[in-house]
Amino acid sequence: MKIIKSVRYKHIPLFRKVTSEEWNDWRWQMRNAVHSIDDLKRVVKLKKSEVKDLENCLKRFRMAITPYYAALMDREYRLCSVRLQAVPTLHELQDDIDDWDDPLAEDVDSPVPGITHRYPDRALFMVTNICSMYCRHCTRRRMVGSRDSHLSRADIQKGINYIKAHPEIRDVILSGGDPLMLTNTMLEDILKKLRQIPHVEIIRIGSRMPVVLPQRITDDLVTMLKQYHPLYVNTHFNHYKEITKESKEACERLVNAGIPVHNQSVLLRDVNDCPRIMKKLMQTLLMIRVRPYYIYQCDMSRGIAHFRTSITKGIEIMENLRGHTSGLALPTFVVDAPGGGGKIPVGPDYILSRSDKRVILRNYEGVITTYSEPENIYSNCWCELCKGKKYGPEDGLAKLLLGEKTVLEPEGLKRKTRHKKKRK
Ligand code: SF4
Repeated sequence: MKIIKSVRYKHIPLFRKVTSEEWNDWRWQMRNAVHSIDDLKRVVKLKKSEVKDLENCLKRFRMAITPYYAALMDREYRLCSVRLQAVPTLHELQDDIDDWDDPLAEDVDSPVPGITHRYPDRALFMVTNICSMYCRHCTRRRMVGSRDSHLSRADIQKGINYIKAHPEIRDVILSGGDPLMLTNTMLEDILKKLRQIPHVEIIRIGSRMPVVLPQRITDDLVTMLKQYHPLYVNTHFNHYKEITKESKEACERLVNAGIPVHNQSVLLRDVNDCPRIMKKLMQTLLMIRVRPYYIYQCDMSRGIAHFRTSITKGIEIMENLRGHTSGLALPTFVVDAPGGGGKIPVGPDYILSRSDKRVILRNYEGVITTYSEPENIYSNCWCELCKGKKYGPEDGLAKLLLGEKTVLEPEGLKRKTRHKKKRK
């Protein structure tokens, strides 16, 4: 695979004297993350005006770039897609009228520290606030990059107790910050406790380490992780330039241990808001055995408005993927609903029209075709699962389709209040 190359660093003044032993040691990488403007000047060229902007920005937000990721940045080109994700800009200080601190209302849906329980059968368990690198587009910057702390032992136990007390939770997503910032021992302690809960079927770990610090994916780590199957890792590549020999090997180490790796990209202005970049990213991910999972519309978090694109741009990207490349390379494009409504999939329209007899569809080439609906369109299911409640919907439109509910309406609907007043 010629397109996937090793990262070179010896030509960068800041890393000239670094030995390969140090470079490949994730703890060395952590200790030597680029935090200061002086260090950054020894990695990339900065104009006087950029230095001034950085000084202002660093008064409010912190910078941390792993040496590995810093070596991926273009030394000259300020708009390099990797550099834009790592180096602060003045835009971060410009508050947008639509910005929220917590656009996904994760704190509102948090019954105990660290846990967000929004969807019926799964829970997010944020075990740390720390990351190896502070991504400039981070949606959780209200907590990540401001105060560095792992969740306390007492709070971790509270989270475990909450999951234990909720038998409907079958899927736990360890997140943060980056859960792989925990030592193997700390992480194993959490995994062990989760595995002792009979109703927890799967565990997912959300980590950007394969992208920003692939050295963290050591043999010791995967040997420990594979004891807690079924276990999945979701990572976060945004650009094909982030796919290197090192990140490929990190992902392969996980996959070889039976841990499927999925990718969640964020659609970012000037970074990857181009159908061709996205196509190359998705295809290259498959080459390193990572399955494209989501493209997220950028959230409306404070300080990242400059990264936002239109939803239409995401739809255009999906139009350029479906049919034009392998189905396996197709992620779902989602908008995480502001206010906490969860992920809403959006994409191009493929149904052009319909009657009760026919549906008119179009394909990626623009071919218009007709699907004739069967005569007897009513289907009945007699399966065992339909007799019980376990696999049925808890709420939503699916409940309406079942006929178990006829109306969904917002709480405190004004019309209802008016009726009450009249009745008095
Ligand atoms: S790794 Fe994830 S949580 Fe950490 S700063 Fe980057 S986007 Fe935010």
